[in-house]
Amino acid sequence: MSDTAPHPIPMVDLTAQYPLIRGAIDDGLAAALDEARFILGPGVQAFEAEAADYLGCAHAVGVASGTDALHLALLGAGVGPGDEVITTPFSFIATAEAICYVGARPVFADIDPQTFNLDPDAVAAAIGPRTRAIVPVHLFGQPADMPRLQALATHHGLQLIEDCAQSFGAAIDDDMTGSRGVTGAFSFFPSKNLGGYGDGGLVTTQDEAIARELRALRNHGSHRRYYHDRIGYNSRLDELQAVILRAKLPHIDHFNDGRRRVAHRYSEGLAGRPGLVTPHEDGIGRHVYHQYTLLCDDQAGRDALMERLAAEHIASAVYYPVPLHRQAAFGGAEPVHTMNRNGPGCPVADSTAARCLSLPMYPEMPDADIERVIDVIRR
Ligand SMILES: *Cc1c(COP(=O)(O)O)cnc(C)c1O
Repeated sequence: MSDTAPHPIPMVDLTAQYPLIRGAIDDGLAAALDEARFILGPGVQAFEAEAADYLGCAHAVGVASGTDALHLALLGAGVGPGDEVITTPFSFIATAEAICYVGARPVFADIDPQTFNLDPDAVAAAIGPRTRAIVPVHLFGQPADMPRLQALATHHGLQLIEDCAQSFGAAIDDDMTGSRGVTGAFSFFPSKNLGGYGDGGLVTTQDEAIARELRALRNHGSHRRYYHDRIGYNSRLDELQAVILRAKLPHIDHFNDGRRRVAHRYSEGLAGRPGLVTPHEDGIGRHVYHQYTLLCDDQAGRDALMERLAAEHIASAVYYPVPLHRQAAFGGAEPVHTMNRNGPGCPVADSTAARCLSLPMYPEMPDADIERVIDVIRR
């Protein structure tokens, strides 16, 4: 070994998969520029058809971002003012923001301490007369407990809207995430499992009428140019992003297998370390490891581990340091509606936010880098 500092290990290296898809991207972009149909052009239409086919959904509607996908998915499912929507406090803020956009109120149900996904018992305890919908997030790429959430939704007549921003390609049995709910919302933010080279999103549904509604909502409430049936939005998937996504889609299973390879090597190398819990695969579905997230004994241990990794030029990140019910945007802890299986509050989300740490994770991560991360943590 030389005495120079070891190379930095980033959370994600988006350049690593470019060589594999460069030819398809170059050809696709050149064709799109020649064609010059930049708004809802042939690339968007083709990507929607290919994504719907891959996801096992009758319809897929490309939109401008994952946040917009959630917003339009909620509108398409008929959620609106006066409704309560049960969701997880342990997610990116967009999940709950979108609920607010449609005039509904988020109700935060606590999470499972092992998977960090919604605890169905907490959801059951949170259901009240105004509850209209449940929005599970397939967090870090692991499918939420859809069988139990579907049973609750059916029993209480609620809409189930899946936040699939982190779970493209994750499945329960043969059903992809996004195919069981009334709608599913995907993000193509560059670092997601299927990422564009800019913003993008997708809404899936099996329902023809909802798909038609979504196509109008993303395009100024219009089915026919300059005839507007309702107030809609300007939220279309960009044609050039569709070219990038079409180039990547045929490789998504391979990319997700790469993530699982990294995750399983981490878990092998870190098994049995005192003070550390490696991610739990609950077997409900196939985990596609958008993130690989450890749980430390306490916040001091987590912060010390993060510093130790940084000193060795290894990135790590806390997803998420402040649970949504504690965010200033929702008024802080007091006025926010929260529930766990025994009563108000989300103690598991609070404790998880204080103790979680995500490690570098991307499909092409070199073995030597994985071993270096493991070595530093084991020391
Ligand atoms: C990334 C993400 C979103 C938002 O997607 P954007 O494309 O960034 O708008 C929503 N929910 C979750 C869980 C996410 O991880």
